[in-house]
Amino acid sequence: MEQEIVLNSHNKQEEPRMHSAEHLLNGTMVKMFGCKRSRNTHIERKKSKCDYPMPAPLTQEQLQELENTINNVISKNLQVSYEYMPASEAEKLYDLDKLPDDASEMLRIVHIGDYDSCPCVGAHVESTNEIGEFRISSARYQDGVQRIVYRLSAPE
Ligand SMILES: [Zn+2]
Repeated sequence: MEQEIVLNSHNKQEEPRMHSAEHLLNGTMVKMFGCKRSRNTHIERKKSKCDYPMPAPLTQEQLQELENTINNVISKNLQVSYEYMPASEAEKLYDLDKLPDDASEMLRIVHIGDYDSCPCVGAHVESTNEIGEFRISSARYQDGVQRIVYRLSAPE
């Protein structure tokens, strides 16, 4: 049976490369440091930032390891794919707290290879090599929140 899938329209035009890097940053922060995906992000074409509530600031070594890990994932040229599932099913697999209250019944799950998955209606690259090199340009810790500001070099 064919089913019409209704998605919420996205409230801002995102830069696909920067936004896809945000997915990888979130996924890597969760894996490496056990925090939650950022709920406070500011994505722009040249420079983006994500905030993570954390008990302590990341060290220079941890920031370097974070950057290296993300670049390693990007260099694997992982394909981005999409899957649709009802919110009632998705909530068992993913943290849906970030979704707006009026989110549609049918959610789109974005998979970046088998590295990261989360519900999202934004615009993404087709594969990670389009992202280019990920660089943390600054990091600041204040009031229990780790802010990471990043840039991307042009893809080769
Ligand atoms: Zn997305």
